[in-house]
Amino acid sequence: MTRAAAHPVPDQHGVNLFDSDPDLAALLPLYLPAELVQRLLPPLQQLGGLAGGVLDTLAQTADKNPPTLQQRTRTGLDLQHIVKHPAYVEMERVAFSQFGLAAISHRAGVFDWPAPLPPAAKYALTYLFVQAEFGLCCPLSMTDSLTRTLCKFGAAELVARYLPRLTTQVFDELHQGAMFMTEQGAGSDVAATATRAEPDGDAYRLHGDKWFCSNPDADLAMVLARIDGAPAGMQGVSLFLLPRALPDGTPNAYRIVRLKDKLGTRSMASGEIRLDGAQAWLVGEAGRGFQQMADMVNNSRLSNGVRAAGLMRRACSEALFVARERRAFGRRLIDMPLMRRQLLKLLLPAEQARTMVFQTAEALRRADAGEPGAYALVRILTPLIKFRACRDARKVTGDAMEVRGGCGYIEDWSDPRLVRDAHLGSIWEGTSNIVALDVLRAIRREGSLDLLMVHLQGLLGRTPLHPAARLVFDAALQRATARAARVAESGAAGEMLARQVASSLYHLSTAIAMAWEAGALASARRMHLAQCVLRQRVLPQDPLGGDDHEPAWLPSLLEPGIDDAAVDRVNLF
Ligand SMILES: Cc1cc2nc3c(=O)[nH]c(=O)nc-3n(C[C@H](O)[C@H](O)[C@H](O)COP(=O)(O)OP(=O)(O)OC[C@H]3O[C@@H](n4cnc5c(N)ncnc54)[C@H](O)[C@@H]3O)c2cc1C
Repeated sequence: MTRAAAHPVPDQHGVNLFDSDPDLAALLPLYLPAELVQRLLPPLQQLGGLAGGVLDTLAQTADKNPPTLQQRTRTGLDLQHIVKHPAYVEMERVAFSQFGLAAISHRAGVFDWPAPLPPAAKYALTYLFVQAEFGLCCPLSMTDSLTRTLCKFGAAELVARYLPRLTTQVFDELHQGAMFMTEQGAGSDVAATATRAEPDGDAYRLHGDKWFCSNPDADLAMVLARIDGAPAGMQGVSLFLLPRALPDGTPNAYRIVRLKDKLGTRSMASGEIRLDGAQAWLVGEAGRGFQQMADMVNNSRLSNGVRAAGLMRRACSEALFVARERRAFGRRLIDMPLMRRQLLKLLLPAEQARTMVFQTAEALRRADAGEPGAYALVRILTPLIKFRACRDARKVTGDAMEVRGGCGYIEDWSDPRLVRDAHLGSIWEGTSNIVALDVLRAIRREGSLDLLMVHLQGLLGRTPLHPAARLVFDAALQRATARAARVAESGAAGEMLARQVASSLYHLSTAIAMAWEAGALASARRMHLAQCVLRQRVLPQDPLGGDDHEPAWLPSLLEPGIDDAAVDRVNLF
């Protein structure tokens, strides 16, 4: 006979993470056509259910059972194989096959839609998936990004050979993608790439060591290498497509030397690879490897921002649930003003990141459609979200863990996994420093600041605001962009301020975009959040002063079913 605990610990496992987050459904029509939203609602709801239940269990199991590297078959053949736990393979099926997350941007037919889906649709689904499983999102994003880069720069013959398998939803026919760039001596500094590419007829033979290779047994990888005789530095680096198996089915000449023992993303394999004359094909122009790879890197940087947003949402969702259900000193945690203040601190960066996901996705859609100026906009929004959202995710997941008290530190719960995974976002695909410097590069080389300014002014112009609030927003925008321009122009001397500039542009962009969303949705709730971003993360604060009272709207903001009063009733400032 089981004995019920007198005071069971609250557990929201099994909740539908889409249904329990009405803000997500509310935001979709702002960024996607109505007909597409209707088409997406059933899969989103289905994925929300899986993410809060079955996928969450699978992710927990896969995290506890990391992949291993097998060197030989049982019959004695020297064929390397990565043994993935069945829980991980089941998640692969859900992501690649059931929801077509790697195919969605590249071909028609996913969810019976007659065209590839826009980025906002892919990221809304990814945002839900990652709330359960983070590790697998790397291979998903690599496959998606490799396909994009191959289609953009690859020879027609290579595209024809591999596109069908990269975008299939038939699991057993699927080819996954990877990106092998980093070497022991070349991480952030890609120009130091030492891997050699020796010409061999129509192809090349790669020789060298790749030091960090996630999804190392992927069927296809994009690799950076230096063609023999190429000049030193960045202009000598070229991009290659490396198949795991050659067209005749024989294994290509490279070895996975070992798998990394990682803090997070433990479900997914990352390894080291030695290239022993592996055959590969040049992608695009020789000597433009980094520029072409930058497209893949930017795509996966954006995906990293989406993942950080999803991790923060999951952390908030858990923290809010616990706060509503857990009691101490005779009260629910959420009824305590100090706890409410902490919950708002979690919610704010999570909502900023969600808005930035949709803003960047929409800019990417416009850029891919060839709209003038949109490329320069996406070129700055991408490093902004990668930089700030990934950093915020570290703190939000850590602080949400504390809301569960001691249980938050115990591996039975999702919190430790979220914290471990969140720390990776700031390191791979460009560390925080490198990505912040990329914001300055986008300003200098692409004129991105002007485009950002025009975009934000456009959003403000379409937002119903109290005249005093408009003045505050306008003044902050002028100051932040003037400073960013000064820093970008000051060359090496300004580099030390890159992170500060990136943060201020991110906070301002999200404050304005959230205010615009609030206006479009007539949502007082979102307008309050936008106002908080402006007050707490943009405008100067006096650590010894400030409001002594809890804002009247906070308790209802944290509870479901809030009366979302019309925006014109909001008393901004
Ligand atoms: C789990 C995991 C999986 C990975 N998977 C892959 C993969 O699949 N493919 C791949 O190619 N790579 C992968 N990476 C590698 C990752 O992208 C690199 O580790 C990262 O880009 C940093 O490079 P590095 O380790 O050489 O650090 P370094 O470049 O040596 O940087 C060390 C420190 O110096 C700082 N720094 C460097 N230059 C500057 C500068 N100009 N100004 C200020 N600070 C600077 C950095 O910010 C960092 O803090 C993975 C890494 C991890 C941890």
